[in-house]
Amino acid sequence: MASIRKVAVIVAHPDDEVLWCGGLLLMHPHWNCFIVSLCRGKDPDRAPRYQQILSELGARGAMGDLDDNPYQFPCAKGELDALILSLLPERSYELLLTHAADGEYTRHRRHEEVSASATALLRGGTLVADSFWTFAYEDGGGTYLPRARAHASLRLTLSEKTFAEKRRLVREIYNYSDSSWETRSIPRVEAFDQPTNHDDIVPVYAPSTPPISCK
Ligand SMILES: [Zn+2]
Repeated sequence: MASIRKVAVIVAHPDDEVLWCGGLLLMHPHWNCFIVSLCRGKDPDRAPRYQQILSELGARGAMGDLDDNPYQFPCAKGELDALILSLLPERSYELLLTHAADGEYTRHRRHEEVSASATALLRGGTLVADSFWTFAYEDGGGTYLPRARAHASLRLTLSEKTFAEKRRLVREIYNYSDSSWETRSIPRVEAFDQPTNHDDIVPVYAPSTPPISCK
């Protein structure tokens, strides 16, 4: 990890970057990090908060305005690919981070679609990354809040200070209440899988569990 400098993070929504890898980013302020959020670019509440988060993380970034309807209608894959490529300023990174193929909880279709799209862009060579990590969380099929996968490739227990800072970003900048799903879900242990072969990632578009409303 010491040699990593140029990092891209591709997430579905503003807040995913903090929830799933905020501690990792806070611990590496020297990274040249570009964070793409594919939704809520025109949301008058979330978009400015996202800009504040970028500033707090010492990162740059861009937002798209993908449909984020609570019904989670499937997004055309070509549209997603094109949006990712239009928002990323470069094609080659030392580390690329994105959602897991089955997302981080049960369930959000956009997370799964973003994972599939980013993976396909890497597999096809349109994007290049020396290291490719996917978030590694699970919620027992919706029976508990998301937690780090026990057998993730990399598990990172945040210090009290880093966790407090991550929590501050969620509470004060994204303005989630103490009782919100987001605040209650903030992982103290962050986890990542490191697929060595991009073919390990299987796009998931139609699991048996129907999508739930946006968190
Ligand atoms: Zn999300």
